[in-house]
Amino acid sequence: MTTVPAFANCHSHVFHRALRGRVTGADSFWTWRDQMYALAAVLDPDLLFDLARATYAEMHLAGIRSVGEFHYLHHGPDGQPYDDPNAMGEALIAAAREAGVRIALLDTCYLAAGFGLSTSSRSREVEGVQRRFSDGDADSWATRVEDLARKHAGEDDVVIGAAIHSVRAVPRDQLPTVAFAFPFAPLHVHVSEQPAENDECLAATGLTPVALLGEAGAWTPRTTAVHATHLTPDDIATLGDARAYACFCPTTEAELADGIGPSVALREAGARLTLGSDSNTVIDMFAEARAVEMHQRLASGVRGAWTAEQLWQAAGATGHGSLGFAAGDPIEVGESVRTAGADELLWAASAEDVVGDRGDVAHRLAAAIDACWSRT
Ligand SMILES: [Zn+2]
Repeated sequence: MTTVPAFANCHSHVFHRALRGRVTGADSFWTWRDQMYALAAVLDPDLLFDLARATYAEMHLAGIRSVGEFHYLHHGPDGQPYDDPNAMGEALIAAAREAGVRIALLDTCYLAAGFGLSTSSRSREVEGVQRRFSDGDADSWATRVEDLARKHAGEDDVVIGAAIHSVRAVPRDQLPTVAFAFPFAPLHVHVSEQPAENDECLAATGLTPVALLGEAGAWTPRTTAVHATHLTPDDIATLGDARAYACFCPTTEAELADGIGPSVALREAGARLTLGSDSNTVIDMFAEARAVEMHQRLASGVRGAWTAEQLWQAAGATGHGSLGFAAGDPIEVGESVRTAGADELLWAASAEDVVGDRGDVAHRLAAAIDACWSRT
């Protein structure tokens, strides 16, 4: 048995776990999103709690001790708030707590369906299931999140952070409100995951997503750029100068055909790498860490841009810190057919090698996922 640093999973959409192995043959990110929306439409606080508790249990078994939950499924199916407007967020916090995983609930502002079709037109209104995501405007979002933050102030296993879903989903004039609402909390934002987002942002604003967020004051040392896949040299310099975090989610980025982000250029510019399981198609931080280096090799034809030590740092201490937590106790990795003879576990082990009681987690996952799809 060997001890290694506990993992931080800095970008999760926990309910996407129910899509694993079910959405095949979808031909693009956008058709995948349609399937995800069908699932989002049926979740309520009880279903979400069961699914999240089982999925966070899977994360715990994978050695994850902090999760950044990028949470935007706020309201009832028609967009009507629940009696407790934070019922869905509370379900996630309770689920993480039961699973023994610290949670940074990154309460996500999501107000619009996309950019207006010209530079002078307003953002498109949310439609269908997206109504569940929206608080109407950024001030109403901030008021709701303030209430949640007050309830959980001083708890050492919960951080309430903020998130901008994307430049598509928060209109330009409301970005500063979200960026400055919680000046001491983590701020996360999906940025430049898909070329289409960049094209639309340029057409609507004349700026790249990173530049538009820079105009709003979003880039600080407490900010995480999630994905950061399709960046210009100026974008990379902006994130580096701000000492922002860049959260790569390589298994999801491969699954969704996003592309390979400029991890080395970001590091050399001064940005700090963290890792996330995002869509939870895979929950294995060994796989995420290795894939950063493997994708870099495939893209560059050169080996060794990332050392094991740098990747342990990204998967551990840097990640926990980005979510507002200390690194915590190490985890134990057992010997297996995979790890036998390996000097460096980062290149060899999988989540299955983390020591833990697997108990009935598989059964609970299957039951929770069946319950979700039976409602669709
Ligand atoms: Zn995401």
